Amino acid sequence: MSAPVFPDVHVPSGEPSAQGLEQHEPLLELVKTEQVPNVRPLTSTSPEAEACRRALLNYIDKSYCWGTAPAKKCEIGRITPFVSCVTTLRSFAETRNTCPKTVPFRGGNFTMSGQGRTPHPWEISLAIVSPWQECIEKHEVPFTSQVARCGACGGDGRVDCGTCHRSGRVSCSTCGGEGRKTFERDGQQVTESCGACGGDGKCTCSRCSGSGQVTCGTCQGAGQLRHYVEMTRQYRTLKHFQVVDDILDSDLEPSKIEAAPGVPILDFSAGSIMPPVGYSPPVDQALVNINVNTLTERSSLGAYIHQQRLEIKLVNVVRAEGTYKSYSFYWFVYGTDEKIESKTYPAQCCCGCLVC
Ligand SMILES: [Zn+2]
Ligand SMILES: [Zn+2]
Ligand SMILES: [Zn+2]
Repeated sequence: MSAPVFPDVHVPSGEPSAQGLEQHEPLLELVKTEQVPNVRPLTSTSPEAEACRRALLNYIDKSYCWGTAPAKKCEIGRITPFVSCVTTLRSFAETRNTCPKTVPFRGGNFTMSGQGRTPHPWEISLAIVSPWQECIEKHEVPFTSQVARCGACGGDGRVDCGTCHRSGRVSCSTCGGEGRKTFERDGQQVTESCGACGGDGKCTCSRCSGSGQVTCGTCQGAGQLRHYVEMTRQYRTLKHFQVVDDILDSDLEPSKIEAAPGVPILDFSAGSIMPPVGYSPPVDQALVNINVNTLTERSSLGAYIHQQRLEIKLVNVVRAEGTYKSYSFYWFVYGTDEKIESKTYPAQCCCGCLVC
């Protein structure tokens, strides 16, 4: 059986984790250089080195058209393990925004402006959405409706047809408006009256059916418009994350480490999570600030946090160096599914690469 890529990195395992909750300091200590186990050069024949090579080859097999020769034949140099601590805070937030809205007026049930007090958007009572179910809803704000005559049609519901300019007739497309057609028959030029328009060069306008007017697009024929205030309620999940590690000047982006499966240390949800002592969650002050419950604060800050979830995990990362035909490169193996990242791998395409 081949050796795992991460043979000696000591991370808390098993239950997620009384250990993590009770002993905050050791978690942070793990990511300090002096605490990372086995920062030591390994020989190219060590189990760790072969595991890094195998992970690289697996990755090339599955995902890419990278050439395999450097991975198969390179001499493996230094191998350095790291542990990244990933803290992710998700906040399930509600926002309420208003904007003016205009619709054709055709009667119906609504409350007119001036007939009652217009509530603030956060005063409108609405059903609570299930946590983490993202959605957008539209609601009419009560007591904001006003009905007015449509300005585009003056209240008629119809406007002049733009195609025939109210005449109801357009130039005949068959004869080009000439009223007659000229063609050749038995070597002779023959002119005949146009059958399509009966010889007068004009046909009935198909857009307005000859009436010279069409339905008003603004009021859709209603003649009156209703203006009111519409509120958009949106539920969405905001994500903040922070990656703490010692991989200096790394090509491995924090977002990739964040997305990689790791060893869970902590996972809890609550109405509002404040930074627990000993961890360093990426809770910026703005996010803390919007964890408020009073109506006035909600309205001035614009968002209400219903639920938060804090996750902390450790992601193993190994940096391996290789040399192939005097070309030096390195790659990272990271996450429990052993993903690969390498910007220096010498055969990153099937043809025209530096070393093949
Ligand atoms: Zn017309
Ligand atoms: Zn015609
Ligand atoms: Zn109109």
